[in-house]
Formats: sequence, C-alpha cells, structure tokens
Amino acid sequence: MTHAIVPPYLLARLAADEPGRFPVAAEAARRALLDRPTRPRPTMLPRRSPARSGLRRVVSDAEHGTDLPGRPVRAEGEPPSGDVAAAEAYDGLGATYRLLADAFGRDSLDDAGMPLAASVHYGRGYDNAYWDGEQMVFGDGDGEVFGRFTASVSVIGHELAHGLVQHTAGLVYEGEPGALNESLADVVGVLVEQHAAGQRADEATWLVGAGLFTDAVQGVALRSMAAPGTAYDDDVLGRDPQPAHMRDFVRTRDDHGGVHLNSGIPNKAFHLAATALGGFAWQTAGPIWFAALTDPALPSTATFARFAGATVRAARAVGDREREAVEAAWAGVGVEPEEVGP
Ligand SMILES: [Zn+2]
Repeated sequence: MTHAIVPPYLLARLAADEPGRFPVAAEAARRALLDRPTRPRPTMLPRRSPARSGLRRVVSDAEHGTDLPGRPVRAEGEPPSGDVAAAEAYDGLGATYRLLADAFGRDSLDDAGMPLAASVHYGRGYDNAYWDGEQMVFGDGDGEVFGRFTASVSVIGHELAHGLVQHTAGLVYEGEPGALNESLADVVGVLVEQHAAGQRADEATWLVGAGLFTDAVQGVALRSMAAPGTAYDDDVLGRDPQPAHMRDFVRTRDDHGGVHLNSGIPNKAFHLAATALGGFAWQTAGPIWFAALTDPALPSTATFARFAGATVRAARAVGDREREAVEAAWAGVGVEPEEVGP
C-alpha cells in the first residue's frame, strides 16, 4: 500500500485546470495521477540488524528518475551532502525518530530499530511524497503550486507514521479505519513538528503540510487539525473539503472512502483533547492516542467510536482530568466512544 500526502481529489482539481492559472502544475498533476508510484526494489536499503538499534538513516537521490532508492547520498552520522532536499529529509527522519523515542519510548517505526530510509528528487516536478511500505519518497513539486515536499517536517512525520500504523494496529486503508489511519499520521506529523520546535499545544499551528504551497496558492497547508476545512480556499484547488464533525461525515467511494476527508473528525478530536490538557501535546494527549493505537484489543477495522473508546480507556488509566478531556473531545466532534473489554 502506497500512502501519498497529496490526496487524489486535490491532484484531480489541479489537473482539470486548463487553460488556467497553473499550466505547469496542471501538467505535473496529470502526470502524478497517471504515474502511480510502483513498488520499488529497495536493494540498497540497509538490512535490519537485530543486534543494533537506535537512529539509523539513509537518504538517497533518485536523480529525477523513478528507480528507487537511487544513489545513497547520506548515511547516519555523515555530514550534509550540500543538497537542501537531502538535508531536510535527513533532519525530518531524525525529528520523527526522536519524537517516537521521547514521547512513546519507541525505537523506530517497528520498535526494533528499523532503519529510516528516504529518497529525494523522485521524478521530474513530481507532485507528491509517499510512504511505500518500506521507505519515504519525495518529489520536488511542480514549482507553480507545490514546492519541494521535504520542506514540511509534518509531512515527513505523517508519511513515516503510516509505517508506525502498519507496525501497530495495521488499520485498513478504507472508510473509517482508513480515516483513522490518516488521522493518526497527521497526529504524529504535527507532534514531530511541535516536538522539534518545542511548542506547547496552544502555541502550535496544527497545520499539516505548511510551506508546501507556493505563494501563488490561496492556502496555508494541506490540512488544519484545529479547523478542518479551512487550510485552503483557492479558485483552482477549490476549498479544503474536510469535515470537523460527524454530522458532516462524507460518504464517498473516492479516496478509499474519503480517508483524507473524514480524518478531519478524529483530527479535531485530538486537537480538542490536546488543547484542553495544555502543555506539550506529545506528553499529554499524544501518549493517550498512542496507547489506543497500540492497544492489542483494537481491531484493524476499528471505527471512530471504537478508537475513541480505546482512547477513553487509556485516558482513564492516566487520571480523571485526562478521561474528562478525552470524553469531551470526542463529544465535541459527535463521536460516542464505544468501549470494549474489561
Ligand atoms: Zn497519509
């Protein structure tokens, strides 16, 4: 399963812009829609070694081709190669590793020191970044609507988090569990950014993908967890279509059943819980959400209600204040937590 940061409906809007404001981006979006990423042969990736753990990164340069991973340009501990995208990818992988270790005591995505690999300069003007099940891949963007995809640390954290979900609850990428999968990736993405910047919940932007759009776009990011549906409003891209409450739940067959749309609902619940609890979100609501994600009783087909029940259970184990904040957060988005088990 390939998880891309730019949802298909956004690329489709862009691709349909002809003749329009963004001819280069429209062409790039058409290519990105046609040229779906295929599974690479990660022969150059370091093998997992059970004897070692800790942060191990490798960044490769696809050199504008589509063969992955490409030429290795920076391994763990090596100095910067002089390439901005490679440096941003290397730093973003490190920031994600440190968040997982500091907040959740986890040793990489699989908790067994799995190396973190990324390829930059994938394709030409490629309008996406994705996790392919084994590594991260970054395009340079078309330059007209999207800049380079390594520019946002929340995007790097988001994509790697798909690897974390894959190694924990394994939430299926369809419908409500798929939207939870997307939401958990956004949660980790913003936590990586907040942790790296030392931001408290009330200081953070709660934006996913800030800095990806060029100045020509009327928008600040791909998504807003604080206010789903407000990240962009552009005559070419349209308006951010995310709901923030169950009454606006989107029923669609597109986008795997609206995984990038309905994720706005659990995203807003996390934002509500984190801001109610205050302090650093990776120390408060973050560990509660992580406990739910790693709850052995959570099925891979979990609904919002079922996941909410797991967070309430985890919050109760922390304290009354936490349980109340988490219950109020889900009530705020119209989800009634469904608890299972003792
Ligand atoms: Zn995603």
